[in-house]
Amino acid sequence: MNTHDIFRHLGIDTSVLRTGDVWVDSPIDGTRLAQLAPDTADIVDTKIALASRAFDTWRRVPAPRRGELIRRFGLLLREHKPVLGALITLECGKIIAEGEGEVQEMIDICDFAVGLSRQLYGRTIASERPLHALRETWHPLGPVGIISAFNFPMAVWSWNAALALVCGDSIIWKPSIKAPLCALACQHLLERAASDMDDVPPGLSCVLIGNNDTGSLLVDDPRVPLISATGSCTMGRQVGPRVAQRFGRTILELGGNNAIIVAPSADLELALQAITFGAVGTAGQRCTSTRRVFLHQQVRDEVLARLKKAWTGLVIGDPREPDTLIGPLIDRQAFESMTLALQAARAQGAAITGGERVLSDLYPQAWYARPAIVEGTDSLRNSLEETFAPILYCFEYTDLDEAIERHNAVPQGLSSAIFTRDLLEAEHFLSAVGSDCGIANVNVGTSGAEIGGAFGGEKETGGGRESGSDAWRGYMRRSTATINFSTQLPLAQGVNFGT
Ligand code: NAD
Repeated sequence: MNTHDIFRHLGIDTSVLRTGDVWVDSPIDGTRLAQLAPDTADIVDTKIALASRAFDTWRRVPAPRRGELIRRFGLLLREHKPVLGALITLECGKIIAEGEGEVQEMIDICDFAVGLSRQLYGRTIASERPLHALRETWHPLGPVGIISAFNFPMAVWSWNAALALVCGDSIIWKPSIKAPLCALACQHLLERAASDMDDVPPGLSCVLIGNNDTGSLLVDDPRVPLISATGSCTMGRQVGPRVAQRFGRTILELGGNNAIIVAPSADLELALQAITFGAVGTAGQRCTSTRRVFLHQQVRDEVLARLKKAWTGLVIGDPREPDTLIGPLIDRQAFESMTLALQAARAQGAAITGGERVLSDLYPQAWYARPAIVEGTDSLRNSLEETFAPILYCFEYTDLDEAIERHNAVPQGLSSAIFTRDLLEAEHFLSAVGSDCGIANVNVGTSGAEIGGAFGGEKETGGGRESGSDAWRGYMRRSTATINFSTQLPLAQGVNFGT
């Protein structure tokens, strides 16, 4: 299926695919998928104004009714799952299973949000004053700006959108310029879901097509109280302070540098599967990709030998083929970053297996790479940074405390895992003196979170939380109310004002 087929299937007017000079090329083979018109500053302004008006209406709609919109949207996602998955594959190069997996993640968060729409619970709190009540209520916040990265071109938006919409907010989405078609498809289906509901205001959801400058317009706009931004630490370093300067709120979901510790008691077969999926799945282009492993000296040689053997059999190629496990990198720049990181590691004495470009004869306009295994010491400077490509840095350790210290000694703090059958080690890793990441797993790899838990990380990963658990609170404002149903006016802390 090409883009026109997909858009026709979804009922989207295909003329949108040829409106301007923002080129969208497929990473699979460089085929031009679309030429879109970017949104000018005036259009951005108009869309934000519409979103503000829509918020005023939407916040008055009862939350369970807001959930009904998401229920209908979820049904459309179910109906079109293979086609939406195919669009993710075409635009981002994910293999079919991962493209469809991403759509499933959207369906899951919609189900979660529908339930949530009847569970936006506040608290009642014991008042210190007689015949007084104290309670906390959660109210809609306002238009939410969603900035997303190329590598999860639908799911990340849906985590934000589904929660924000049931919370009573309107949404304004600035997708990556590398994946705008996925955004147009989602926006269209959401509009279709809304089309039979008479209480959904126009402009409740919109998409801004453009680059970082377009994102900046959203970031700086005081009408947008919350910016939920997913992308690199570099982006977060720019966006965070700008939103803070206008006292806006952010949810920042930034880069990761995730590691797995393999202890002597580990089930090595499980560990190998998890490391492989984590390191090479999505061609190493997940925020939760496994970038480092710490192998206990008792298992190091065996794990490395088995990893290298397993990786020679990985099928790299067109992600639309059912046997392919590793698709292309998103673009030339991604491959160049990978090459630079490997050159630096080699210069520091590391031994490297893989890492070369492949299939360039078949796909001269695309960037396929063999995943790289780097055996080195901890002093490899570039292992401290996230290179968004399939590079796995392998280190040896002897003592768990030392491994945890090295594990935590990177600026990012997203996802982490230990493979062990030793309960004491597992609990130690999960404890306050263990992994410092937002996600810590035992006998489960770093990559591939379920939507039920809050997702996000510490340190330079930005501290934001999205998706499940109580992440919804980030999309609402808290109001604390004290109600006096007595005939006196006692002051808190027993203060006597003498009147
Ligand atoms: P990127 O930082 O280049 O871009 C992400 C988005 O931010 C894009 O929409 C971009 O236009 C926008 N942007 C960048 N600078 C901006 C600015 N100054 N003002 C406003 N908007 C701006 O990231 P990418 O290459 O698309 O994605 C890869 C990165 O995203 C990796 O670092 C990855 O770890 C991270 N990521 C994190 C998560 C997470 O949940 N923590 C999820 C997916 C991806």
